[in-house]
Amino acid sequence: MTPKPRSTIALALAAIALMAGCATEEPVGETAAPVKDDPAARLARYATVDLTAPTGALTEKERQMIPLLMQAAQEMDALFWEQAYGDKGPLLSGIADSNLRRIVEINYGPWDRLEGNAEVMDGAGKKADGANLYPKDMTKEEFEAACAKAPDKGEALKNLYTIVRRDEAGGLIAVPYSKAFSERLGRASDLLKQAAALAEDPGLRRYLELRATALVTDDYRASDVAWMDMKDNTIDVVIGPIETYEDQLFGYKASFTGYVLVKDKEWSSRLARYASFLPSLQEGLPVPAAYKSERPGADADLNAYDVVYYAGDCNAGSKTIAINLPNDETVQLEKGTRRLQLKNAMKAKFDQILRPIAQILIDAKQRQHVTFDAFFANTMFHEVSHGLGIKNTITGKGTVRQALKEQTSALEEAKADVLGLYMITALHDRGELGDADLKDNYVTFVASIFRSIRFGATSAHGRANLMAFNFLREGGAFKEDEATGAYTVDFDKMKQSLNALAEKILKFQGDGDYEGVTAFMTAMNAIDDQLGYNLADVSAARIPVDVVFRQGPELLGM
Ligand code: ZN
Repeated sequence: MTPKPRSTIALALAAIALMAGCATEEPVGETAAPVKDDPAARLARYATVDLTAPTGALTEKERQMIPLLMQAAQEMDALFWEQAYGDKGPLLSGIADSNLRRIVEINYGPWDRLEGNAEVMDGAGKKADGANLYPKDMTKEEFEAACAKAPDKGEALKNLYTIVRRDEAGGLIAVPYSKAFSERLGRASDLLKQAAALAEDPGLRRYLELRATALVTDDYRASDVAWMDMKDNTIDVVIGPIETYEDQLFGYKASFTGYVLVKDKEWSSRLARYASFLPSLQEGLPVPAAYKSERPGADADLNAYDVVYYAGDCNAGSKTIAINLPNDETVQLEKGTRRLQLKNAMKAKFDQILRPIAQILIDAKQRQHVTFDAFFANTMFHEVSHGLGIKNTITGKGTVRQALKEQTSALEEAKADVLGLYMITALHDRGELGDADLKDNYVTFVASIFRSIRFGATSAHGRANLMAFNFLREGGAFKEDEATGAYTVDFDKMKQSLNALAEKILKFQGDGDYEGVTAFMTAMNAIDDQLGYNLADVSAARIPVDVVFRQGPELLGM
């Protein structure tokens, strides 16, 4: 207990989730405290940030391509409005309050995505689980009955790239995206072709040409393969119907999205170099040999980018900061997947959300160690570290995933956090990280634990971080100043505790010890009074919940 007066805001309010370290693996539904009937307060939860990127190294043709790709992405934005809501014109023009209108724009409809789709205005009604992808009056039962009656038609109704509508007789029909949205998709396709004609990198040219065809044929596979084959491009665009989260009814329908990206070639080549150390770092893990007998791949396709345009699905609600594609399993088997870390979007969230949290919960004497460079490095090494350890148990219980069942994800995320710091420490000791200060990585990690705990217990990241917090605190890795409620890291104990936690996790995984993990996670997933007060202090400070972007060619001087 502390003598400092504490906020009495209920812990439920502390459930505002901030950002995902691995958005690629787990879309985290961010939630925020209710602010019903107060558009200004609702809007205040979003910090507005300019989306820019270093463009000095771009060629003249690349500078000409970017505005074309942004226009193509704008078509995706309009199409996502159609999928999520319908005709946005009358909706927006009927809203007199400019704050409220902006909220509706940010959310692609009159429901707050950060607050479980709560209505933001009278008359909105409850958002349909199937958004505007199915007839509003259609029930699950009706859909399933139609699919059972005619299996061929059922395939079309369930297809990733169709919307479901009613025919004149009232029956359900599937309309391919290329027909339902032919005008806008045709325009986007033309824009991609124009960009392709400017592309100097042959891989990029081929991808853009194939993607242009995919948009008007609903067949994306060849373009996905071409995207994986493309390695030396500087400009990238992720565009088309991709993720299925907007379809809360069945998860069948892909939503239109568009990212225009500029590759950070320096960070990307550093990542490739770090991944090449995985085999030797595996040998150095603090566990007996049997727990590190697999050889990790050293060629992770992991790159860093700055995003210069977000459109449609990825721009709705919580902003994506990492991408893992393609989703097509046939292409995955043939080509693997690529992970894209979105550096400037992470920086926006770091500045607007993580740094203010550190102002409250990290002791003033160590606050200078909370840096974006450390945060970015921790995130990158987290990603690379998923490749360390073993995928199969050493006790004949099959894969780790089979043995640890629903505990798998949270333990794996905790592993990646802890081994990410292990990698950083080991590479630092080998002189691979230049003059980077390890203290930055450790203190920034502690600050980000608080951020992640607020994802809540339904998120693997939330549970992983809560476990790490309790375990490391028990080991004396950091300590709260009772007068200020802020934490100070003990660097020696931090290293020892991280090693102890790494050993514990790697053994749980290797042994496939489901009972052991379950008991450990249950014990370590408690929020005691001290942590509860910390989280309430952060809630009371009204730190933004998410960011929204100002974006466009003019911000890049194009
Ligand atoms: Zn992860």
